[in-house]
Order: sequence, then structure tokens, then C-alpha cells
Amino acid sequence: MIYGLICNSKEIIDNLPYFPILPKIDRTKKDVDQHMSFDYLGLSDELLSAIKDAGYSEPTPIQKKAISGVLQGRDILGIAQTGTGKTAGFTLPMIDILAQGRARARMPRSLILEPTRELAAQVEESFIKYGKNSKLSCALLIGGTDFVGQVKKLDKGVDVLIATPGRLLDHMQRGNVMLSGVQILVVDEADRMLDMGFIPDIEKICKMLPKKIQSLFFSATMPSEVKKLTDSFLKDPREFEVSSPTQTAVTIEQHLVKFKGTDSIKRQVLRHLLKAENVTNAIIFCNRKKEVKIVNKSLQVHGFSASELHGDLHQSTRMEVLTAFKEGKTKILVASDVAARGLDIPDVGHVFNFDVPSNPEDYVHRIGRTGRAGKKGTSFTLSTQLDKKYLDGLLKFLAKEIPLYNVPNEALEDNKTQRQSSSEANNSASKHHQKTKNTSRHNSINKKPTKKQIHHDEKPIKKETSQDSNSLEKTLGMGGHMPDFLTR
Ligand code: AMP
Repeated sequence: MIYGLICNSKEIIDNLPYFPILPKIDRTKKDVDQHMSFDYLGLSDELLSAIKDAGYSEPTPIQKKAISGVLQGRDILGIAQTGTGKTAGFTLPMIDILAQGRARARMPRSLILEPTRELAAQVEESFIKYGKNSKLSCALLIGGTDFVGQVKKLDKGVDVLIATPGRLLDHMQRGNVMLSGVQILVVDEADRMLDMGFIPDIEKICKMLPKKIQSLFFSATMPSEVKKLTDSFLKDPREFEVSSPTQTAVTIEQHLVKFKGTDSIKRQVLRHLLKAENVTNAIIFCNRKKEVKIVNKSLQVHGFSASELHGDLHQSTRMEVLTAFKEGKTKILVASDVAARGLDIPDVGHVFNFDVPSNPEDYVHRIGRTGRAGKKGTSFTLSTQLDKKYLDGLLKFLAKEIPLYNVPNEALEDNKTQRQSSSEANNSASKHHQKTKNTSRHNSINKKPTKKQIHHDEKPIKKETSQDSNSLEKTLGMGGHMPDFLTR
């Protein structure tokens, strides 16, 4: 007689008593490991129900590693990009750990440091989403928002304090918050903290924390300054790397669009791609704030539903822009790296790099805004002769080619001719839309393209109404005059 045993949990299999008749089968363990559900990670039923409501069926690789480590009380050093599910990786176990105990006035029980206000706000959203069946209180200490309101929240006592380093130090110096009750510290996006000059602030904050706390550090890369910080701060951490910084998600179809031309031609190519590809929503990255503003205005002038996100905007405006984009009210977000890094915007179909990023690692972060959590995404990187230096650096960094994408000549023609016959141009652009899988970086853009017919019923992501010229005048501050370069 043959006996079979089906187990869903790696732990159950690992802990099975050894029967000579029932040998352990490695293949089964591997299968189970790959398809482990949340049920076996040791989370409470309340959390499992919230996870189910969030629509997650399986933990991501970082969640499998982080959740059990955090629940065991271990320090964590996770090398992971955004988009890997790392927020839930630390939020979920924290909710269960903090379920026991009560917060005291001005003495938060846990502290999460984020480099940007948007990221901090996203982590708060995660706590609200996953912690809906718990009674934990959260406070957000970020710049640009109501200081007095933040003090009131701190006075009531908070379980989870989510802060950007500058604003937290400000409150600490005024005696509004004391860190002596913190049991868990999270430093998220540590490498970004470094880029933004926050490491000294983090060191100051860490010195104010109790000696015995559980610390969780996450970073996409491990520059020496971050390594020094984690070496001195973490105790016997559970270390894991979910993907190396040069790895881009396999779910992202990447394209490189190489051509010679001015910024105006670049904007033309961008418009062509937005129309010719089946774009439902997109983030367009530019290297400079100035460029972000120009590209956004240009798209608006051409009737696209676009908005901009960069560091010059007031916090409340940034939040409004982001919410409108998340809710699908705006279809295109033109953004700078600092403003958009790490933003969790589900279901972004396309990412466009209007410029090749000057820092190759930003490429990974930029295109990581699409193809998140196993979904399919597409990225286009526009590169002219002016991007050559950065493109060479990027390809060296990636150690692989980005497949070339050919745009038709019409998209590269001088814009005046285009405007004269814009409707024909659009039509012919769609008809002649060509794409190649050729990966040679030196190929000319129109060499032996493979044809891909675009259906005429594809809907470009244009505004349904004509653009509001008053609001444009207001934003531009140029009265009735619209500079020529913006209409091109
Ligand atoms: P993060 O890397 O934390 O920014 O998360 C990226 C995205 O993945 C977010 O939109 C999450 O809602 C989503 N996500 C997190 N965990 C899972 C999961 N286990 N299954 C599916 N999606 C997830």
C-alpha cells in the first residue's frame, strides 16, 4: 500500500517526523516554498483577513523573508527595491507585534523613517489598509503639513510614528516627542536617505533611541556610508537581497528609442509613442525640474491629460497631483526623480524616460514604477546625441542592451510640417508604427524594422475636453502669450 501526504507548509514538511516509509522529498519542499501562502507566516487572523481584502494571495519573496524574521524579533537588513512588496514586509509583522501594549503621550512605540513625504504618506496608507482590524494609532510627521495638528496627535499617544528625518528632529528639539519608548525602528530607502543628505540626521535620531530595540533597515543599494551605519547599528541582522540593484523586473518590457534631434523633436517622439502605444496611464521622468515643467505644459497644450510632480511644489499640491493620478483623473504624471522615487502607484502601464537618467541606478527605480507585483509593464527611454554619455554609463551599469524601438520618420520630422498635417501624421504614425526586437545599440533607428500594425480604435490618453487656456495662462504667468516652444 502507498501512503501519500499533501502539505502546504514548508515548516510542516521540515518538522515531519522521519519515517523510513515517508522519505522527505526535496521537490515537494521547493514547490511549497514557491507557493507558500500568507497563512503559514505566523500572522494573526485579523491580519490575514486584511491581506485577503487587499487581494493578495501569496507573499512576495521579500515578505516571506522579512515577515518571519521580524516576528522572531530579529534585526533585518533587506536589500530590496520598491515594487517588491517591502512595505507590507515590515508593516504586517509590526501590526501584530504592536497589538499588545498601549501608547503613551509623546512616546511613540515604533518609528519609521522615510526619505520623502510621499513615501511616508504611502506607509501610513499601508498601516491603515493592513491594520484596519487593529486599534493601532498612526501619526505622520512630515514637512509642509499642519505642525499643530501633529503635536495634538503626539499628545494623544501613537503606536506608529512615520516621519521624515527633518520634521522629526524639529519636533524632538521642541520637546514634542521622546523616543525612549520606541521598540521598533524602520529605516526605509536608506540609500535614498544618503542621496538626500539625511544620514547625519538619522545618526542623531538613532542616538536618542533606547539601546534595546528591534531595527529594520531597507535599501535598494548598499553604498559604503549606508553599510557603515548598518554595521554599527544592527545586531546580528537577518540579511537578504531580493534583487540586485542592476536587476530590472522581468515583467517590464524595455525599449530604447535612439534618434538625433532637439528637445522639441524629443517631445514630438514622446507624443507619438503616447498615441501609438496602447497607453492607459504613464509616468514620464525628466532629469531636471525645468524639463518636467516644459514637458508637462507641452503635453497639456497638445491636449493630453497631464500633471507635474517635482520638489518645487507645495506639499499639499504634490499630494493632490498624486491622488488625481492614482484615481485616474490625470493620465500622465511628469516627474523628477526625487519627487517620484519609491512612489507606490499601482497599475502604471508605461514609464517614459524623457532623458536617460544621469545616475544609472535611477533607471532601475524609474522603470520599477511599472511592472509592479508581477504585473506587466512597458518602459521607453528616449536618447539623443545629448544623452550619449549617460546612455553609455547606463548600458555599462546594466551590463546588457536595451532593445531598440524604431519610430517612423514622421515622428522625427521638423515639427512645422507635422503641425500642418497633424491628422494625417497621426494616422500614418499609427499605420507605420514599427517595433524591432533588435538589441544592437548601434543600429540606426529605422533599420529593418519589424512591422506591428496599430489598431485604429486605440484610444490615446488625451483629455476629452479641450484644454483650459485660462489655467494655462495662470500657470505660465504669460498672459495670452504662449511661447512657441511649448506648442511644439
Ligand atoms: P512596495 O514595494 O511595498 O511599494 O509594494 C509594491 C506594490 O505591491 C503595492 O502596490 C502593494 O500593494 C503590492 N503588494 C504588496 N504585497 C503584495 C502581494 N503579496 N501580492 C500582490 N501585491 C502586493
